[in-house]
Amino acid sequence: MTRTRRLSRLSLPLLTLLLAFTQAAPALAVPVDALPVSTAVPGGVAVLPTGMQAGSAHYRESRVLLAEVDGLQYAVVGIPLSASPGTHALELRDAAGNSRSLSFTVTNKQYVEQRLTITNERQVNPNNEDMVRINRESAEMNAAFSRWDESLQPVLRMRAPTEGVRSSSFGLRRFFNEQPRAPHSGMDIAAPEGTPIVAPAPGVIVATGHYFFNGNTIILDHGHGLISLYCHMNTIDVTVGQRVEAGQQIGAVGQTGRVTGPHLHWSINLNNVRVDPALFLAD
Ligand SMILES: [Zn+2]
Repeated sequence: MTRTRRLSRLSLPLLTLLLAFTQAAPALAVPVDALPVSTAVPGGVAVLPTGMQAGSAHYRESRVLLAEVDGLQYAVVGIPLSASPGTHALELRDAAGNSRSLSFTVTNKQYVEQRLTITNERQVNPNNEDMVRINRESAEMNAAFSRWDESLQPVLRMRAPTEGVRSSSFGLRRFFNEQPRAPHSGMDIAAPEGTPIVAPAPGVIVATGHYFFNGNTIILDHGHGLISLYCHMNTIDVTVGQRVEAGQQIGAVGQTGRVTGPHLHWSINLNNVRVDPALFLAD
């Protein structure tokens, strides 16, 4: 065997190894075709040009999605419903480790009240046993919402996950049987039981379960802190770890958990904050 031939036999595994290292290098910004609607209000998304090539961005101690469109870098920041209007700061860091603070203004948004009557009293005032379950489920969901997966390429403009009447109910200050509860953190899409629910964007299923309030639920990770939630489903057609493409059926509309009728509750989490899903819809 000649020396050249021995070298060429070695070079393929070596090349594969080098490529693997290149792919594992931390991404500066994820290339996207389109950005969500920018609205710097509580429950909204601030799309901020970074004016630099940041290697990472943080807001309220959570990692923030960096997107690149036409060679320009943007931080796509989820603002919590509980945020106070005023000046907020985003911390940017470049590849060399130098950091810079970028401030932006959050303006006020007044969400109206919604009063609902729930016939199952335990779903409004759970007993002690229920509370143990609720706390366990909420820890499970919070763990899923705080994920950061750089191996996935998030898509920031999506199709609706189901055909139906889209309510603009995100952020409503809710009262169940006249008792104040957490604000509504998603979009409700009313549709008959059994209506297909599809993945609005590609991702990986990271949790499924039958939860006390949310009923049959799926959590879908799209990457870089963008994670979506589907609740009250009739059936779940996917399993944890499964990769799904945009448009692929993941389940069907139902009325499991705390509901007043069949609908899909759809939430979008960005940097561990629930934001208005309407900002991500393509149409
Ligand atoms: Zn809902």
